Amino acid sequence: MDHFQYRGGILHAEDVPLPRIADKVGTPVYVYSRATLERHAQVFAAALEGAGNAPPLIAFAVKSNPNLAVLKVLQRQGFGADVVSGGELARALAADISPDKIVFSGVGKTRAEIEYALEQDIGQFNIESREEGRELAQLAADRGLVAQAALRINPDVDAGTHDKISTGKADNKFGVPLSRAADVFTELAALDGLSLRGVAIHIGSQLADLAPLETAFAKIGGLVETLRANGHRITHVDLGGGLGVPYRKGEVLPSPAEYGAMVKRMTADLDVALTFEPGRVIAGNAGVLLTRVVRVKEGVNDPFLIVDAAMNDLARPALYGAWHDFDAVAPDGRTMTANIVGPICETGDTFAMGRDTDAFVAGDLGVFRTAGAYGATMASSYNSRGFVAEVLVSEDDFAIVADRIAAAAIMDAERVPDWLA
Ligand SMILES: *Cc1c(COP(=O)(O)O)cnc(C)c1O
Repeated sequence: MDHFQYRGGILHAEDVPLPRIADKVGTPVYVYSRATLERHAQVFAAALEGAGNAPPLIAFAVKSNPNLAVLKVLQRQGFGADVVSGGELARALAADISPDKIVFSGVGKTRAEIEYALEQDIGQFNIESREEGRELAQLAADRGLVAQAALRINPDVDAGTHDKISTGKADNKFGVPLSRAADVFTELAALDGLSLRGVAIHIGSQLADLAPLETAFAKIGGLVETLRANGHRITHVDLGGGLGVPYRKGEVLPSPAEYGAMVKRMTADLDVALTFEPGRVIAGNAGVLLTRVVRVKEGVNDPFLIVDAAMNDLARPALYGAWHDFDAVAPDGRTMTANIVGPICETGDTFAMGRDTDAFVAGDLGVFRTAGAYGATMASSYNSRGFVAEVLVSEDDFAIVADRIAAAAIMDAERVPDWLA
């Protein structure tokens, strides 16, 4: 459920009509709903209440929406953060997320990032390789510290999602293969500087089916038994994120409640504290990308609806062939079939071909729905278009939570060397 609804024929975010935001901030602009973020956070937390032997840590996957105001909303809901870079760690700390609720994932943590995270005394490093584990142990020991850590396992399951967002197959770069996990765990657990207290997985994103997760959790359960039989003390298991969200009207995905019930069934005998790293399921349907139609151009078959948002603002369709519902802000009941495209000089800048949608004329406002996750965060300035603005709505109030960065400001950071002047 989200808080983007029609009232009096006009699409609102909570109590704010979207044309008001377009007038004040301009388009394109991402619009997030605080009430929706809070609701999703509460539904997810409620679904996992009672899972594990202690209250679970829910660490929001910052990469899905790193906006500081969004992080602050979730911090106030008691969420921690799953970060994958020093930059994301800085954001989580800036949003007052307590360091002990921060988990650091990622295959390429640099020495500088590891040092920064050690200085901040974060809650858990998710180690993705034997080599990283050795380096982390050394850096911690050199400082007289002990890093809390889990070993990320690659369970070799097919998450059944898009290849580019699948992370748990044997040939993906993430984690240590299950077949080597016990061996790597034994080596790393013996190192000074590391408190290797558990295992972690994350098999992919936009999962439409619980079965691959269940298979992966079963493998992790088996591994925990093996590790304990080898004399290791396992107190923590991190089950990652990945739960999908509906991108099309009428699409039905596993609910947080169904996910929670499966988690509890699969982990009932594990006797560990659980961590979760949801991103999309919290933020996806809490945001829309508000855009204005620049021009309607006749086509050979369907007309081209040229909007002022482009693949640099919302990359998912170009990157993954992803579907985003597109709706008029003030529909008049008529419909059309159109190719919805942005202004960028690349055919990849296509949001939809032959889409049945509301009727639009130049100047009309529309929204791409379900744009709250992996939206603004993937923006670029391609075609010197600047960076898109972001707005957070709370009841009848709204605030700009990320300024539009104009193309001119980006150009200001560039220099022509003397020898070219
Ligand atoms: C991306 C990512 C997540 C979040 O995935 P969602 O599909 O957005 O829930 C969680 N954990 C890790 C390690 C990730 O890389």
